[in-house]
Amino acid sequence: MRSIGVLKEGERRRLVALAPAGVARLRPQVKVLVQKGAGRAAGFTDEAYLEAGAELVDGRADVMQQADVILGHDSHYRGEKLDGPKTFLGFFNVLNDRAVVDAYAHNGISLYSLDLIPRTTLAQAMDVLSSVASISGYQAVLLAAERSLATVPMITSAGGTLRPARFLVMGAGVAGLQAIATAKRLGAVVRAYDVRAASRTEVESLGATFIEVNGAIDTRSAGGYAVEQAPEQLERIREVIHSEAAQADVVITTAKIPGKSAPLLITEEMVLAMKPGAVIVDLAAGTGGNCALTEPDATVMRNEVTILGPTAIECSCAHSTSFLLSNNYTAFIEHLLKNHAERPNDEILRGTRVVENGVVVNARYLGN
Ligand code: NAD
Repeated sequence: MRSIGVLKEGERRRLVALAPAGVARLRPQVKVLVQKGAGRAAGFTDEAYLEAGAELVDGRADVMQQADVILGHDSHYRGEKLDGPKTFLGFFNVLNDRAVVDAYAHNGISLYSLDLIPRTTLAQAMDVLSSVASISGYQAVLLAAERSLATVPMITSAGGTLRPARFLVMGAGVAGLQAIATAKRLGAVVRAYDVRAASRTEVESLGATFIEVNGAIDTRSAGGYAVEQAPEQLERIREVIHSEAAQADVVITTAKIPGKSAPLLITEEMVLAMKPGAVIVDLAAGTGGNCALTEPDATVMRNEVTILGPTAIECSCAHSTSFLLSNNYTAFIEHLLKNHAERPNDEILRGTRVVENGVVVNARYLGN
């Protein structure tokens, strides 16, 4: 590997996969080509990339032709003609957006997708999912607070006392815990639920109350992830959550199962029982949503309850998200540089390699 090219993301994205600090870290080992303007929307200027040691190239086609490794967070290959073997690297959400892989299944193309990163200690620095989830959880609280008709903290003023807002957080993984922490900092009273028993202590350590629902299926064999719950268990969860949602000013849902549709946790009936002016932010909107009324990237109003389903909320904090992602990609590229020749099948490379020279090879993608 002699050169890495950094693409400008599509119109909807304001992110950049490599920040100038990442260029400076990689530059001693490889040439870094950056598409002009790639970092502008995230607050990184072309001058900053030049100072860090990058070479600026005019357009997307130049990156495609000149670089061996092409890095774009989720800017996809569009079938352009390539003049040699290329390795594409990014976050292609391949378990949920399976058709995306087809574009890469051609001779000479390899694809690594970092949403498949194993959740091991060694891979932690490369965990793009956690970076995106952390910022999403934080942003979801700000979005809800902004759309809510009520203030979040308790405020005592000449006109009287405003009680603190009540937040319900469903799913206490990376995004949920960040949402809890952010809501607590704003002064909310927070209650949370997750099917994984391990999340209870994490919820409580942030000062929130864990909601008890007996009978969840929770297994260590899922690598730290949740597994799908039986229909009767989902029904039991919804029964308990019904009264919780009815009392909440804000509901933030983050419950996901890798490679599957998100579980339905908030039914239409529950929305109808909520307070007028309440807000739901559904961070599972991209995989079907946790709320029955969610529409991806739209605002739905029902019974004076606002339901928001942002699918790329992390992009509104483009500088911070890009900073975290850049560190993740840089750590991965350093690992690739060190291991791809001698240990091409180590856990991290094998786990994230989806296509190898045109052939789909990933066991998780193939369901093996
Ligand atoms: P995720 O985005 O897949 O899911 C979000 C949350 O939804 C999870 O906590 C999950 O348990 C929960 N959920 C699923 N179905 C549910 C239901 N029916 N009701 C309520 N909640 C439901 O998961 P994630 O946030 O990426 O992380 C999951 C776990 O992995 C966490 O324990 C996290 O700390 C751990 N993790 C480990 C590493 C590492 O070891 N390197 C890195 C990141 C995360």
